[in-house]
Amino acid sequence: MRLDLHVHTVRGSSDSALTLEELVLQARRAGLDGVGITEHNTLWHDPTWDAYAAQQGLLIFHGIEVSTDCGHILAYGIEGYLAGIHKAAVLREVADRCGAVLIAAHPFRRAFEKGPHVHNLLKLHHPTVAEAAAHPVFRLVDAIEVANGGTAEEENAFALEVARYLGLPVTGGSDSHSANSLGHQATVFDEPLRSLRDLIAAIKGGRGRPVDRLLLAGG
Ligand SMILES: [Zn+2]
Ligand SMILES: [Zn+2]
Repeated sequence: MRLDLHVHTVRGSSDSALTLEELVLQARRAGLDGVGITEHNTLWHDPTWDAYAAQQGLLIFHGIEVSTDCGHILAYGIEGYLAGIHKAAVLREVADRCGAVLIAAHPFRRAFEKGPHVHNLLKLHHPTVAEAAAHPVFRLVDAIEVANGGTAEEENAFALEVARYLGLPVTGGSDSHSANSLGHQATVFDEPLRSLRDLIAAIKGGRGRPVDRLLLAGG
């Protein structure tokens, strides 16, 4: 199963132009079996919509991308935005209570940018793998997103190195805010995933394989 696990829509992200109808159409064109909707700091449910997508052969998983003091974190399995989860340690406690999975999203975006301003998670230019792996976020998440469509190639490659160093599971997602990039990055699972619980278990079990259509031969 090929799932794009990081997608924003107009329904919950003001910076997205992707309508739900376009999402279904383009996801099927891109060969996706499912899409994880991860709006910024909000989580919506619409059973009617999920049923429509399912009729078109597309599974919808509802997650959230939380802006935290340790960068952006994707969560699958929490009920919605709760007070205090802007602190990654609190988000971890909530996730443990719900059996949710947490994924560090694009952790090294802008880590290799030139210039005097360092706006990345580590506040370091050109960190070593060991320096990067020591960041507290990696003790709080279950997995690392290593193929993100809004992040430079070398930043994604570095995330993969850090994940391997730490032995953490990995995921991929396009971070699409419009239809054209949907599915360019994704996560492939060699097992059928029928529910959110299946997805969480498969990610935590390290059974996801990130693919980047622009870089790697996708599985
Ligand atoms: Zn983000
Ligand atoms: Zn995002």
